[in-house]
Amino acid sequence: MTATENGPAGCATCAELLRAAAAAERAGDFSKAVDCRVLLRRHQPQHNRTHNDPRRNGR
Ligand SMILES: [Zn+2]
Repeated sequence: MTATENGPAGCATCAELLRAAAAAERAGDFSKAVDCRVLLRRHQPQHNRTHNDPRRNGR
């Protein structure tokens, strides 16, 4: 499996949040890790949004 649940490869935001979450877990700061993963989930839907037409009607 090349694709992960963490988002498309090459997304700097996903990579940064994942790295921050992993680092926080290693450091024992689980509250921070959870926070990073929450931010990641909030960010991921943006992958489906087009930047060309931000006011596009989604329906
Ligand atoms: Zn992303």
